[in-house]
Amino acid sequence: MSRGYNFSAGPAALPEAVLRRAQAELLEWDGVSASVMEVSHRGKDFMAMAQRAEADLRSLMTIPSNYHVLFLQGGATQHFAQIPMNIARRDERADYVVSGDWGEKAVREAGPMVKVHVAATSAANAHTAPPPRDTWDLDPHAAYVHYTPNETIRGVEFMDVPDVGDVPLVADFSSSILSHPVDVSKFGLIYAGAQKNIGAAGLVVVIVRDDLLARSPKDIPKIFSYAEHAANGSLLNTPNTFGWYLSGLVFEWIRDNGGVAEMARRNQAKADMLYGYIDGSGFYRNPVDPAARSRMNVPFTLPDAQLDAAFLRESHDAGLLALKGHKLVGGMRASIYNAMPIEGVRALVDFMRDFARRNG
Ligand SMILES: *Cc1c(COP(=O)(O)O)cnc(C)c1O
Repeated sequence: MSRGYNFSAGPAALPEAVLRRAQAELLEWDGVSASVMEVSHRGKDFMAMAQRAEADLRSLMTIPSNYHVLFLQGGATQHFAQIPMNIARRDERADYVVSGDWGEKAVREAGPMVKVHVAATSAANAHTAPPPRDTWDLDPHAAYVHYTPNETIRGVEFMDVPDVGDVPLVADFSSSILSHPVDVSKFGLIYAGAQKNIGAAGLVVVIVRDDLLARSPKDIPKIFSYAEHAANGSLLNTPNTFGWYLSGLVFEWIRDNGGVAEMARRNQAKADMLYGYIDGSGFYRNPVDPAARSRMNVPFTLPDAQLDAAFLRESHDAGLLALKGHKLVGGMRASIYNAMPIEGVRALVDFMRDFARRNG
């Protein structure tokens, strides 16, 4: 078997050690003589695993005790709508800061549930830098402020948590959770789909401060209510049991590899290597403001789009997978989440250098 270096934006590469452990445990998990996929989510073995995964995530992110951690379904996209449903009234205003395509989607899905106000957007500069903080039109009485710390498609990242005063800050961390240390206490709600930095698709982690949980209205279906999920330990109905298990393995892997601070150190080294090569190449180009370049998703273009097909074919043959850029942007994109080792980035840079020499 030969596994390539997988640069997919999502679902993305998982640590090989995690996959091997899941493989080893697939038929007989944890002494229960069955797979983790085949046992009751209300049995003591599953519940113990689920609680361990939550405890590990709490410890990795230093999540304060006045926050609940929920393991839910529906993808980040469903939560674009579910968040306003839970923490705002329909006649309240919610401020959205848009720095890319996922932020735009969040605006669209929230629209029917709350009075969405786009407080700032970088659309006019094609989202090559987040809108500067001093241009945001924020209402101090808004139900919350929503933003996207890392925009996966165009590779734009906020390097700091913005100050929005006393208004609860809500963040879609789908593509950057656990990639660097974050002060959770600055947020009202953090959410992330699992398929980039946590585990397998089909699971969403929601970290929500208790005072916001208390806002969940009683007149929405229970299955959409964060308060109901919290009261039931995310076991209101059958959860994504395998996804929960796999995320637990990833949390252990992060811990065993030095924790989130060490992930950040490795991610910075990978990003520096790749952007450094691109900028000095005179061949490849990344359009994002250097102060806001994503440490997770690195889009780049070749000098002539006619070369794209050859680049993709040859890189794939060299064991470098899924480098095609998002269709909105074109060109290439290398996603270098926690599970991408620095050797993979080195192999990519070596290939890019060789390709440029042959085609420049
Ligand atoms: C991938 C992604 C999403 C979408 O996640 P789904 O699970 O497909 O709903 C949302 N936001 C960001 C920032 C993403 O990277």
